[in-house]
Amino acid sequence: MRIVLPVVRFKLNKRRIPIGLLLLCLIFIAFHQLIARKNAAKETHRQRSKEVDAQLRDWHDYAAMSRDAERNGAGEQGQPAVLANMEYKEAVASSLSIYGFNALLSEQISLERALPDVRHLSCRAQTYHRHLPAASIILVHHNEHPSVVLRALHSLWNRTPHELLHEIIFVDDYSTQPPFGASLEQQLIVKFSTKLKILKLTAHFGLIRARIAGARMATGAVLVFLDAHVEAAYNWLPPLLQPIFENPRTSTSPIIDTINYNTFEYVRSSPTRGGFDWSFNYVQLPVLAEERMTLPAPHNNPVINGGLFAIEAKFFWHLGAYDEGLAVWGAEQFELSFKIWMCGGRILEVPCSRLGHLYRDGAFHIKYTNRTDDFISKNYKRVASVWLDEYQDALYAHIPKLVVIDAGDVSARRALREELKCKTFKWYLETIAPDLLQAYPPIEPPDYAFGALQSVVAPDLCLDSLQLSARQPIGDLRSCPPDLKHPYITQHWQLTFRRDLRQPNGNCLEVQSWAQDAPVWLWPCHHQGGNQFWYYDQQTQLLVQGETEVERMCLEANVTARRVSMNDCDFANLNMKWNFGFVNKTMMATFFKGLRTSE
Ligand code: UDP
Ligand code: MN
Repeated sequence: MRIVLPVVRFKLNKRRIPIGLLLLCLIFIAFHQLIARKNAAKETHRQRSKEVDAQLRDWHDYAAMSRDAERNGAGEQGQPAVLANMEYKEAVASSLSIYGFNALLSEQISLERALPDVRHLSCRAQTYHRHLPAASIILVHHNEHPSVVLRALHSLWNRTPHELLHEIIFVDDYSTQPPFGASLEQQLIVKFSTKLKILKLTAHFGLIRARIAGARMATGAVLVFLDAHVEAAYNWLPPLLQPIFENPRTSTSPIIDTINYNTFEYVRSSPTRGGFDWSFNYVQLPVLAEERMTLPAPHNNPVINGGLFAIEAKFFWHLGAYDEGLAVWGAEQFELSFKIWMCGGRILEVPCSRLGHLYRDGAFHIKYTNRTDDFISKNYKRVASVWLDEYQDALYAHIPKLVVIDAGDVSARRALREELKCKTFKWYLETIAPDLLQAYPPIEPPDYAFGALQSVVAPDLCLDSLQLSARQPIGDLRSCPPDLKHPYITQHWQLTFRRDLRQPNGNCLEVQSWAQDAPVWLWPCHHQGGNQFWYYDQQTQLLVQGETEVERMCLEANVTARRVSMNDCDFANLNMKWNFGFVNKTMMATFFKGLRTSE
């Protein structure tokens, strides 16, 4: 059927001309009015932005920053420091084993050392509201090394605008090796005057309840919880307060830079989102593509990283603070994060705010309590049984002992959830962390392939990680196992649903350079493809690294040297051909489905 437009014919009627003229005049007047109104609106807008500008303020302390720029000496400007006297070797080893970091070196670095300004350049020109709410900083500590805690306090004192610093609440969680004798505390009070309040707990409360005790004492509008081993960077606080000022149901956290445990070097971190896997490990998720476009503006964060965050005091209490049934340490950041999102709030990571955090040596295990009961599992069970709904099963499938662990009385926490009319965990996952479900599905899909990787050209040789730990180049070829499908653990490779090549201990094969003959490395799996993305081509038998065409390289055997390296893919090259112990052909058929760079 053809749709025919009706043809309108105009006929000039002489008698109607004056009416036409009148109409024209009316149109002209209306048009004029419209323009005038538009101009007036523009003027009001200009006026308003002037008013807004007048309410904004550059909170930088430029005088302090330029004083800092002049500083030099051990660890100054966040540079790695070395001990003046190498004879201290043994003492360093002992301090590493007591504290998990080089405490001796820490004592040689000034408490007021300068830090590098590692913020995005545009943060330096950012202004915030003139009348931001003032903060109570709550710092809990248990057996921390004095030099580190003192440096935290000095950096906070020097880099926080005093009008925004309501108080610092310094909670000693019943330290058994009291680092702070009365005289040191007196010195602190002299330096920080009435702004420093010391709360000494008379029993070991553990991190969670110690923080609640500190919060009970606080009288500022905003609570800022920090670890005792942080260093505040320039202008760290105003960017955290601004989003709370705009919407009090917001919790904000800074980017956490790393203070190296051995050298005290200040190392820049990148924006990230927090998440968890189904063993309740904290994991990092990439910033979403649309959020990357607006960096360094604040972006949504599903889970607070550890314990550095700001929240309006009223909102914190409205949410029922932390669950006081959680003991010592563990899962508290999950409880608070789920609660904030599910009960009407939001969490933002604020890239213009930065704090350094001293991460202890990875091999060091801190012992906060002599308790022998499995309190961490109990914490997990409490959080799961109150907040996870049907997703509890996923957690219990990964940590089976949780099924029989007693969570204690959680009725009050469930009642709180009812009372606050909180949303479901499914809503939280699907709306706030949809990528978490993809990266960490409750039930992991099977591997694309698994078993030994056997060289086709030398079938007695298989890729072996030996007994090596992660973070080093590997690539040895060793005698193959009798059964390629069930090899020794060091020869067991899984091409997982994440499309990485993982060993059973959670380390992955990756590349770190794209030159010819580049080595392969063993590294903790990061679950984000890129340099850990692998594909096994059943036809050509090539083992290909790299998601995009330009990045692709292939694993090549050097039979004489019994080593492997990466080179340009060539399916005619026999040294590049591999047998995989077992290939799941059904899974392989959809290997590239849903990928950015599907073939
Ligand atoms: N903390 C505490 N009591 C405890 C355990 C920890 O006061 O029972 C303090 C600790 O001194 C630190 C903060 O809580 O200031 C966070 O602990 P930690 O740094 O071990 O946590 P992580 O950084 O490993 O998440
Ligand atoms: Mn810490």
